[in-house]
Amino acid sequence: MLRGVLALQIPPNVGAVPYGDAVDEIAAAVDTLPAAAQEAKPRGPALSPSRAADFMTCPLLYRFRVIDRLPEPPTTATARGTLVHAALERLYDLPAAGRTPEAARGLLATEWDRLAAEEPDLAALFENEAERADWLASATAIVDAYFTLEDPRRLEPAEREAYVETTLESGLRLRGYIDRLDVAPSGDIRIVDYKTGRAPREAYEASALFQMKFYALVIWRLRGVVPRLLQLMYLAEGEVLRYSPDESDLLATERKVAALWKAIERARDAGDWRPRPSRLCDWCNHKALCPEFGGTPPPLPESASVSEALPSHQEAIPEPSLPEP
Ligand code: SF4
Repeated sequence: MLRGVLALQIPPNVGAVPYGDAVDEIAAAVDTLPAAAQEAKPRGPALSPSRAADFMTCPLLYRFRVIDRLPEPPTTATARGTLVHAALERLYDLPAAGRTPEAARGLLATEWDRLAAEEPDLAALFENEAERADWLASATAIVDAYFTLEDPRRLEPAEREAYVETTLESGLRLRGYIDRLDVAPSGDIRIVDYKTGRAPREAYEASALFQMKFYALVIWRLRGVVPRLLQLMYLAEGEVLRYSPDESDLLATERKVAALWKAIERARDAGDWRPRPSRLCDWCNHKALCPEFGGTPPPLPESASVSEALPSHQEAIPEPSLPEP
């Protein structure tokens, strides 16, 4: 099911560019974005959309992830997200005619072998071969569903797993990984994000779009072009959420990010990282340390830096430990 204007709460831009319009089904996109302008400013603190979302969800969760840097072992859900993203990234290495469902299934197998060899924790998720086979079948179903949403033989992405970073006037760096950037011959840019978790309910779609607007802001600041379309693809459910941003959207996103960063700095200066319980706590990896559930957080590190570690590939994966509401 493809959702459009009626399903979203953010008129009038939503669905303004229907699927199949200028930036879709690009037969001959340019092969790369124009070179990013060299940044001359000194490097300051950094924020990614994932961690920004963490702070908005729960300041204590942000603290656990950014300041305490508590480890979060993979789960079958996060591993599935990693695998599906890897297979879809590699799919576009193939010549266009070869980007078939069969080829994508083959890539799932080879990418799994690679990931499991690189990260033994992934291989250890399964007690036996039958469990692993069931899980692989669930990843296969998601990749098969991808082919119901678009035809990769008709697309030539400009970039995949693109690391983007820009620095705001305040010195705050915004950064992260974008799953896919499509650039039409006209120069129109589409930002694509694959999701393997469930699609958010309508009331939460604005927060799902925050990540995309964050990336759109970065691209705008880097390239001077407002991306024409933001596209979230909920593969497992065959849903696509699209939004066509304008400059006022992105300026509002910049103000929101700046206000969020100020709130993070205030929390750091006060050492006040309050838990904000919600039903997402059921998926929180750190519940045992959370005072809301009788736990005690570890002592704050002596210098509580709110500078993020360099985002990893996992940063781009849509399901950390807290799934979409
Ligand atoms: S359990 Fe809930 S309130 Fe506690 S840290 Fe996790 S998300 Fe925050």
